Amino acid sequence: MSIVSTANEIIGNDVVKALTRRGFEAEYVATSSEALKRILEIIPENASVGIPGTVTVRDIGALDALKERGNIIYQHWGPMTSEERREARFKENEADVFLTSANAITRDGEIINIDGTGNRVAGMAWGNGLVLFVVGINKLAFDLTDGIKRAKSATIPNAIRQNEQTACVKAGHCVNCHDEASMCRAILILAQAVKGRKYHVIIVGENLGY
Ligand code: SF4
Repeated sequence: MSIVSTANEIIGNDVVKALTRRGFEAEYVATSSEALKRILEIIPENASVGIPGTVTVRDIGALDALKERGNIIYQHWGPMTSEERREARFKENEADVFLTSANAITRDGEIINIDGTGNRVAGMAWGNGLVLFVVGINKLAFDLTDGIKRAKSATIPNAIRQNEQTACVKAGHCVNCHDEASMCRAILILAQAVKGRKYHVIIVGENLGY
């Protein structure tokens, strides 16, 4: 095992302990293929799965693998009318499993997300069934301040992907905008597993997503 892999395992398992102390089920896996295997084990074959805006989940092949296996998938990415997209966002949050990544997780186990539309943070706090996070080691942050900065750092690539001219795309860094194009309108910090929700967090020892 390389030095980096060993370090990732030590850090990842430490964050797993911190998440567990806060009521989240959590585990560390070294690779994205192991993460995919665990996702397919954790999600029942007859479960519906809501997949919001997440590059990680799509990049590791989870969406395709679940679809191929016969799980019903709700997602708002792809060509659809704005009304269909709105409907799809509601369905994602009502699914048996809400499968997503996170923008940041602190070493002390807080899960941080920033959202422009609000559907993703709503699903994380008020999902219908299991909320399953898959998070690359690159998303770990030292504390809340670092985590919010880390979360905002995802906005430039996300804005480019969505062809949005946010102030940070123009400036090259966050300027704490409050303009029409802002993608940072709601910040959710899960400080503890929310009452009535079930959570499972898979930390992956690879860089995944933005
Ligand atoms: S400039 Fe605006 S959209 Fe960009 S990261 Fe900062 S608050 Fe978010």
